Amino acid sequence: MQQKLNLYNTLTRKKEEFEPLHAPFVGMYLCGPTVYGEPHLGHARSAITFDVLYRYLKYIGYKVRFVRNITDVGHLENDADEGEDKIAKKAKLEHLEPMEVVQHYTNVYHQDMDKLNVLRPDIEPRASGHIIEQIEMIQEILDNGMAYEVNGSVYFDVPAYHKNHKYGKLSGRVIEDLMTNTRDTEGQSEKHSPLDFALWKKASPQHIMRWPSPWSDGFPGWHLECSAMSRKYLGTTFDIHGGGLDLMFPHHECEIAQSQASNNHTDAAKYWVHNNMITINGQKMGKSLGNFINLSELFSGNHEMLEEKYSPMTIRFFILQAHYRSTLDFSNEALQAARKGYTKMMNGLNVLKKLRYPENAEITPDAKLNEELLKLTEDCFRGLNDDMNTARTIASLFNLLKKINSLYLGQINITHLTRGTFDTIRETYQELVLDVLGLKEEQAGDMDEMLQLVLGFYKEAKENKAYDKVDAIRAELKKQGIVIKDMKTGIDWAYEE
Ligand SMILES: [Zn+2]
Repeated sequence: MQQKLNLYNTLTRKKEEFEPLHAPFVGMYLCGPTVYGEPHLGHARSAITFDVLYRYLKYIGYKVRFVRNITDVGHLENDADEGEDKIAKKAKLEHLEPMEVVQHYTNVYHQDMDKLNVLRPDIEPRASGHIIEQIEMIQEILDNGMAYEVNGSVYFDVPAYHKNHKYGKLSGRVIEDLMTNTRDTEGQSEKHSPLDFALWKKASPQHIMRWPSPWSDGFPGWHLECSAMSRKYLGTTFDIHGGGLDLMFPHHECEIAQSQASNNHTDAAKYWVHNNMITINGQKMGKSLGNFINLSELFSGNHEMLEEKYSPMTIRFFILQAHYRSTLDFSNEALQAARKGYTKMMNGLNVLKKLRYPENAEITPDAKLNEELLKLTEDCFRGLNDDMNTARTIASLFNLLKKINSLYLGQINITHLTRGTFDTIRETYQELVLDVLGLKEEQAGDMDEMLQLVLGFYKEAKENKAYDKVDAIRAELKKQGIVIKDMKTGIDWAYEE
């Protein structure tokens, strides 16, 4: 089946049909973490959003190169150009080498993302490993007259750039408004305009992370790494640039400016895609606001705002059951509902494993029924194709699941389905749940074999009318989150929803 994906492009402010520059190849860049602290729920949303996009692009046949960077230098405290480097500050506090901090939090990030079943990128470049590429790009921007040097630091000249380009084209910010609203605070006086941003900063004597450059011993500005590394691995123009909505301005606006002002002369990416924020009581969750919950705290339940612990797949489902461009409000109730939804979806997989298409029975296909079921499977793709609406796809999968359960319970006679319809239902459900939404079973090993044994005892006890034993088995399994299903077609188990 040929799927047509539509994506909302922040640059054009509309949904567009996705057409790669060089099909079947797709280049995708995502701004990764600044590794100076543990990842929180906000990081998970960005990673999972673009994980599903990566998975879906591959699923519909593209050959994707996915680059997600690690920011390990140059990200200063106030996200602008002033203050200490976030990583150097943490290193000083904890008496560590900056690279120890970087390695530690990179490892933590990988471990947490693995738990959330987020696929690793194809290339994961570090800013500190690409200083030469960044210096080259600064030189191009200087040569093109859109940057200037002051006391060993180099700044991007926004007004000079804006003469022939449009600063604000991505975020919709108006340069005149920005001019009046951006105050020139102390320490920024080196800049010609308060809107200018650092491409290279001269290091103060006590600054540890420093590299030689034509201008001074120093370090690159935060926005530059993404421009330099995306160009190196994906080319001067590539297909998709992703990130959280909070990065749209100034970070991504500056990336576009750097790319245009360098010898790329492009907007870097054709499609700019942004995921919305996670909120708590309507306020953005973030480190700077101090209202964030780390992933490790969610996994352990160890946080004052948490009523209990939530498994990685519950969190993944919680994120997927909202469209990525909507805000998603955190609450215990929402996470508990997500766990139910996730469990229901896993039960569907278990039912499918047990459903067998009859090999020797007489098949009497019901045309209307087959048509109805095939339409339900097509619906499952409609959400994904419409700007990656995973919420809609999950709702469609649950509609399909109702039919799968009816087949299993014998309410729909399986002999009324053609083999083709049956296979399509099975493949659609399994592949979308496992391969595209990236959900997986969290219970260890294959429980079915063991549980069938227990069900054998249960059946025997029931036949012997040993109801004490029957109740005891039920109660014990319930403690493990397993319920016994007594059906016309036989006895089976399911996870408690
Ligand atoms: Zn970036």
